Amino acid sequence: MTKFDNFIGGEWVAGASYAPNVNPSNTSDIIGDYAVADRAQALEAIKAAKDAAPIWGMSGIQARFDALDFIATELLARKQELGELLSREEGKTLAEGIGEVARAGQIFKYFAGETLRITGDVLPSTRPGFGVEVTREPVGVIGMITPWNFPIAIPAWKIAPALAYGNAVVFKPAGLVPGSAWALAEIISRAGLPAGTFNLVNGSGREVGEAIVMSDDVQAISFTGSVPTGSDIRNRAVARGAKVQMEMGGKNPLVVLDDADLDIAVDCALQGAFFSTGQRCTASSRIIVTEGIHDAFVDALAKATKALKVGDARDAATQIGPVVDVGQLESNLKYVEQAVVEGGTLVCGGNRIADKPEGYYMTPALITDTTPEMTINREEVFGPVASVVKVKDYEEALKVANYSQFGLSSGICTSSLKYATDFKRRSEAGMVMVNLPTAGVDYHVPFGGTKGSSYGSREQGAYAKEFYTTVKTAYTRSA
Ligand code: NDP
Repeated sequence: MTKFDNFIGGEWVAGASYAPNVNPSNTSDIIGDYAVADRAQALEAIKAAKDAAPIWGMSGIQARFDALDFIATELLARKQELGELLSREEGKTLAEGIGEVARAGQIFKYFAGETLRITGDVLPSTRPGFGVEVTREPVGVIGMITPWNFPIAIPAWKIAPALAYGNAVVFKPAGLVPGSAWALAEIISRAGLPAGTFNLVNGSGREVGEAIVMSDDVQAISFTGSVPTGSDIRNRAVARGAKVQMEMGGKNPLVVLDDADLDIAVDCALQGAFFSTGQRCTASSRIIVTEGIHDAFVDALAKATKALKVGDARDAATQIGPVVDVGQLESNLKYVEQAVVEGGTLVCGGNRIADKPEGYYMTPALITDTTPEMTINREEVFGPVASVVKVKDYEEALKVANYSQFGLSSGICTSSLKYATDFKRRSEAGMVMVNLPTAGVDYHVPFGGTKGSSYGSREQGAYAKEFYTTVKTAYTRSA
């Protein structure tokens, strides 16, 4: 079995141990053995990043552009091969895997360009004879802790801006998906960065993640993952004075009004709820439907849901791949069961597929007759499970949509400009979609939410610089 090492201080380093990377479409397929770092190795990576940070921080913008452009170009050129690896280890369909690798390439391209657009301000002083400059400087060492559901795009949207703005990186990917992270690190290792500028430390959250969170040599932490882990990391990192950015999931509402185009609404719900096996923080997991269109919408959505092809992620006919692992599968099935116990009607799906025991396959579940208070409408499931809440009118739909501890993404299907405009204004979400699924975003604009979904400044686009730079104000006596 091929062994894949960590990348620390510019060298490939054997793990303290190794763990198999298992294909969720077929658990007898082991992709490789991936290094698992221990705490000492995590600290070595942090030390290497600390030493490299001032060197990379003083590098010219041409060197940064060249490195990021190199990474982007190779990702784009190898999107098919790396997309297959991603589908094989995470379980999203091949089209989604290839698309995600291409997205990672586009993100690096975008931030390559941003290196040439780092600006500041030159201002007159309020005091005669003085001048003022406001510049953006690197923060130092950035620790990155990422989840399994977007194993290359999420690391890309953290690593690319970090490097573009002159920071050093210690990257800890999720334990379930070390392969895409390793492939990305291998490309970065050839991009001409000073040794130690970028470090891959695959290892457990409890050991490696913990070391990153608690090290005073890590000035900032960017995290994406679950609410309990994220909240705990935030509390401890903030207590030691680190800069923190958190993306922690959602329970995203899709409102369907009586005047919606039925085909568009069904398509938004189907894509938003079930594609990528529902394992997206922006998934449309709560569908809020006004009573005039409710029955027609549920009938059409149930028909389309039943027709979805669930299967091996790399099979061209597959529309919904497996769930990522057995723990997530069991959790999904439990949420479906609980929804029924609490009074919901299971219209279709919600079962493990018995004749596909080789992988973690479940049929997409649609649950109706739910109320906003039910567990299924309060907690993030993170699987192919959608619940429907029937409401009287737009005002009730808006109220139900906003009734959540989360506020990542929201959507509305309507042909009314009045309701669309009002929803964009009053929806308590960081991202609002009109006649579009709640999932599916651009890479050149901010990504992030309100309430329990996010903490700290936005990711992606030009707004990323708020997190990855620190502002300096310099005064000069000019006369
Ligand atoms: P976690 O939040 O537990 O993990 C996310 C990342 O944090 C992983 O890299 C993990 O490492 C790391 N981590 C775990 N514990 C610690 C710690 N104490 N200190 C530092 N880092 C730590 O999510 P899971 O992957 O376990 O998924 C569980 C649930 O989280 C899902 O069912 C879903 O509800 C939600 N989720 C939400 C995502 C989102 O984008 N909103 C993405 C993924 C999950 P390791 O993998 O080694 O444990």
